[in-house]
Amino acid sequence: MSDIIQLLPDSVANQIAAGEVIQRPASAVKEILENAIDAGASKIYLGIKDSGKSLIKIIDNGSGMSGTDARMAFERHATSKIKNADDLFSIRTMGFRGEALASIAAIAQVELKTKKHDEETGTSLEIEGSVVTSQEICQCPAGTSISIKNLFYNVPARRNFLKSNSVEARHIIDEFDRVALAHPQIEFILDLNNAEHIQLPQGNLRQRIIAVFGNPYNEKLVPVEENTSLVNISGFVLKPEFARKTRGEQFFFVNKRFIKDPYLNHAVTGAFDELLPRDSYAGYFLFLDIDPKLIDINIHPTKTEVKFEDEKSLYAIMRASVKRALGQYNIAPILDFEREKTFDLPYAKMKEVPVAPTVQVNHHFNPFSERQNTEKKMTGAASWQKLYENLEKPVDQPSRVLFQQSETQEIFENVERESHACFQLQGKYIVTQNKNELIIIDQQRSHERILFEKFEKQLREKKNFSQQLLFPLTLSYTATDAIVINDLMPLLNECGFDVEDFGGNSFVLRGIPPEVESGSEKKIIDAILEEYKMNQQAFRLQFRESVCKALSKAAAIKYGRILSEEEMQHLFDELFVCEQPNYTADGKIIFTLMSTDEMSDRFKK
Ligand code: ADP
Ligand code: MG
Repeated sequence: MSDIIQLLPDSVANQIAAGEVIQRPASAVKEILENAIDAGASKIYLGIKDSGKSLIKIIDNGSGMSGTDARMAFERHATSKIKNADDLFSIRTMGFRGEALASIAAIAQVELKTKKHDEETGTSLEIEGSVVTSQEICQCPAGTSISIKNLFYNVPARRNFLKSNSVEARHIIDEFDRVALAHPQIEFILDLNNAEHIQLPQGNLRQRIIAVFGNPYNEKLVPVEENTSLVNISGFVLKPEFARKTRGEQFFFVNKRFIKDPYLNHAVTGAFDELLPRDSYAGYFLFLDIDPKLIDINIHPTKTEVKFEDEKSLYAIMRASVKRALGQYNIAPILDFEREKTFDLPYAKMKEVPVAPTVQVNHHFNPFSERQNTEKKMTGAASWQKLYENLEKPVDQPSRVLFQQSETQEIFENVERESHACFQLQGKYIVTQNKNELIIIDQQRSHERILFEKFEKQLREKKNFSQQLLFPLTLSYTATDAIVINDLMPLLNECGFDVEDFGGNSFVLRGIPPEVESGSEKKIIDAILEEYKMNQQAFRLQFRESVCKALSKAAAIKYGRILSEEEMQHLFDELFVCEQPNYTADGKIIFTLMSTDEMSDRFKK
């Protein structure tokens, strides 16, 4: 039989490599910006047309290349940055794999003009689909200018996969910002689609952050500076009051390279502790300077992940540095480097004797039935009563959060009979009354609890409520996130997310639980993903509970949402048929009461 194995031609091999390194215009932008930085440029221009689909042009005033080097640069594994395997452990440059130019030239039409500072003439080179079509001597300024035209022109599948111009432009701006933030000493200019012109003058990090994100940031930054034998940490965190509801400004740079690191993110978030408003994300621009021997950046084709040799110490140092920085700026009340707060319980719960959980299934309970159903309210009263059987009224509690059974029953019945008006306070609390008490319910927490129990029940009873979407959604993720989604898939399905692997890190979402608001489907799946990444340990231990928790957190109505009278009443009723209306799944207090006696106490004088 004849032999069948042959070596792939370079053009094909390069195209395959390009698939890994260059996923979209923004990846080409990143690689070429990094080359300019490695070349020692002090000024870099980036021009983009058609969101990079038709043109990406970068001009730098760096070292430039000789004619021979310019030609060599497009060969695969051609690099001036490392010479042998040992060098892999002392990398200080952005690039080192020698793949970017070869990959880009395999899938685009590239024009390069380059001249070294001490040479009279430069080189002009044209290359298309890995084939050099022209190489000439030319007159050009010192430095390098590179135009990448019609990216993916010969890979239609990739080209078709590109997103809308605005999405691709967003990716480009993200890459540009990351590179610009990491190198404030370099001047950057961005011309985007002939519409946006951004100029970032040379400066320090604070000035660069302000140039990128705007003047208000000047007020928001708290400096972080910590030098240890393992790592030097510098940069800024955002004051907690400026934390955002979405994952916004979160930047880690390791040896000036932007990386993503959920573990370190957890360290920073932990340092903020209860200073962070609920459901908001800490903001930071943190630079880690670390001996390249102690890290491996060669674990990801786009070099956005780093493996640290001593992850644990790094975590501890990061956490302590941020905590100290917040403390110095009088933001964190207590500095306590030793204490691990993960297992702390809220004050009210500390006094409780743990009770083995019992499962109470109410077979008549239908979470989707009409609210005005009186039978349901009766059931509600019954379970409301049961709730407190195991709870002792704690002594020395300033405001009463837990009640004795007879009292609670009364609360409910009184509200039942008279159905007092509810009103909303600050978009956050629902206030209502019965004969003897003022009742204040936290709207978001109460909804979280309601949904948590619903989701848990669905999982327990394997009832699969899913509402089909009119237009199925395609969700794309990174390879690592896709693995997580696949892990979570059976549970997502059981919770009512009709989601299916579509291949290539994409998923199709056909149905959602009825509790999920349309338009927020992806946000919710992302939130679960986020939660999973933050708390992998907890997730592994209590998989179901964690999914339900993440789901309910993400799907619950948020503070600020104005509720109608009917919605408030609805929330109130639903809450008090819950098995545990006192606390959220995270142990946070949901409602509080004030009796008329307590009130008259306050009016004694
Ligand atoms: P890497 O950056 O990993 O070395 P690239 O394919 O990105 O690989 O670049 C190959 C080589 O081309 C670089 O090592 C560098 O010597 C040279 N080079 C690329 N871009 C520039 C530039 N803008 N200025 C000077 N030299 C460059
Ligand atoms: Mg490079």
